[in-house]
Amino acid sequence: MTDKAVSKPLIVAQQVNKIFTNGCQALKDVSLTICEGEVVVIIGPSGSGKSTFLRTLNQLETISSGTICIDGIDLADKRTNINKLREEVGMVFQSFNLFPHKTALGNVMLAPMKVLGQSKGQALESARNLLYRVGLHDRMDHYPSRLSGGQQQRVAIARSLAMKPKVLLFDEPTSALDPEMVGEVLDVMKELAQEGMTMVVVTHEMGFAREVADRLVFMEEGELILEETPERFFNSSHPRLQRFLGQVL
Ligand code: ADP
Ligand code: MG
Repeated sequence: MTDKAVSKPLIVAQQVNKIFTNGCQALKDVSLTICEGEVVVIIGPSGSGKSTFLRTLNQLETISSGTICIDGIDLADKRTNINKLREEVGMVFQSFNLFPHKTALGNVMLAPMKVLGQSKGQALESARNLLYRVGLHDRMDHYPSRLSGGQQQRVAIARSLAMKPKVLLFDEPTSALDPEMVGEVLDVMKELAQEGMTMVVVTHEMGFAREVADRLVFMEEGELILEETPERFFNSSHPRLQRFLGQVL
């Protein structure tokens, strides 16, 4: 892992509020700093604002007030090139959403060619390397329909990595998988973490959180309730966290 003691803040969210047009306040004064190379795992009950928070980080949602800076750039600044920034913040969803008419390679090559302007040769070489890295060297020419859920999600991770993001956001990446496929996806994520990738992960996989996270965050009803190292987190006597852990562990 990188030397996190001296690493610089990559994402700085301050007093972030999000009120949807229907009046629902999904985020209440959420402040969180994520440094380069850090792995932050967010847990919390359904509806606590975890997805909304991730979506504000890559501008899928605007915020109602507060500030979010990524790599020193204020998302709200009119001069900020949101598309450029979005490329630097990758996101992996619960549903992998691969293009069904493209092979694993084709899925990984598409955005680097269209968005980054890579040549076909460049994109192919990089996609091969990435699929190798996620353990799919023997599945490169397969269409999504011929891949298991775990394999599809690993293609989706490779596809995000192809854009060379500064940070990867994961929103419950294993929740849609059959239990026997969860491990292979978590293993890939663990390797990325060990290679120094900055990651923000929403998950219910407590074993992964305990082992891989540098910090754990507990959200409830739109609030960031607690932010701790795994050891302190799981030994915390915070009543709201205890109630939640009692339900999921
Ligand atoms: P989580 O990911 O923790 O389950 P979400 O961030 O999806 O929670 O949702 C937080 C709250 O915001 C919930 O009450 C949800 O109903 C509400 N919400 C999410 N998206 C929208 C939306 N587009 N419009 C209105 N309310 C929303
Ligand atoms: Mg969610």
